[in-house]
Amino acid sequence: MDISVVIPLFNEEESLPELTRWIERVMNDNGFSYEIIFVNDGSSDKSQEVIRTLAASNPAIRSIAFARNYGKSPALNVGFGKAQGDVVITMDADLQDSPDEIPELYRMITAEGYDLVSGWKKKRYDPLSKTIPTKLFNATARKVSGIKNLHDFNCGLKAYRRDVVKHIEVYGDMHRYIPYLAKNAGYTRIGEKVVHHQARKYGHTKFGLDRFVNGYLDLATLWFQSRFGVKPMHIFGLLGSLMFIIGFIAVCVVLILKIVSLCSDSYSFFVTNSVYFYLSLACMIMGLQFFLTGFIGELITRNSPERNNYLIAEEF
Ligand code: UDP
Ligand code: MG
Repeated sequence: MDISVVIPLFNEEESLPELTRWIERVMNDNGFSYEIIFVNDGSSDKSQEVIRTLAASNPAIRSIAFARNYGKSPALNVGFGKAQGDVVITMDADLQDSPDEIPELYRMITAEGYDLVSGWKKKRYDPLSKTIPTKLFNATARKVSGIKNLHDFNCGLKAYRRDVVKHIEVYGDMHRYIPYLAKNAGYTRIGEKVVHHQARKYGHTKFGLDRFVNGYLDLATLWFQSRFGVKPMHIFGLLGSLMFIIGFIAVCVVLILKIVSLCSDSYSFFVTNSVYFYLSLACMIMGLQFFLTGFIGELITRNSPERNNYLIAEEF
């Protein structure tokens, strides 16, 4: 099979028939063998009935329906698990992404050798309250992830070699960083294609402003995982040692000042009045905490099934 189209959806009943017809037209015009996987993320409208009706007239349509709303990332993850096509394409269900992009995305993966091609909504049809924070968000994501050529990390329209989606795990709200997940998994040929974007025709956006706060927290998590995920002691041990050294120096200062004051008649020194005393206490305690966190992190890593996962490029 050439292409799997994975579509996560949450209450998108009005868009589904139009979207399906459009994808079918593109596939037939280009002679692709394909499947469309609708992942219904616990919709409370008639989306699932619509999907059933659509599937009745096209055996290429498959569906997984969650019992409740889990989020876009879980929906993508189960869709990826089910996908069989050589190239897997994800798109939103709200008709904001255009199926006309599919042939070129497919070509970039199969002919140009990309692992992942991400859409770039260069001209967006979204409110300003969304486009401006998004620019900032993408700039940070570029910097942190080191994927310098991507302008639009969170574009719903993306294409992958099948191998890629089988080796990444999208969870929580991590769909915003799939290119980063792919890079961390060892897939470094990441490309970009400018795609057409349309205003939402039916329904309303499913994400509020909290997306930006959560987005940054997730980015911090991913950065930490990729830097120190299998060697947490390297960061916590370093911080712990620094704290300990500062604390130790502070203790020495306190001791010296106390000895000097004991030997002298004119100079008096009270340990509990000294800033160095409090500094040493705080630093020693924090240093110990950092060390313990590091040890616990190492124990957790030791038990992680991911600890020895490497993507092999070649083997004889
Ligand atoms: N979506 C989903 N589960 C959710 C929220 C959204 O499957 O909990 C789907 C939604 O139906 C759409 C896609 O994810 O197909 C993108 O959502 P939306 O269009 O609301 O996001 P925006 O375009 O505003 O970023
Ligand atoms: Mg949308």
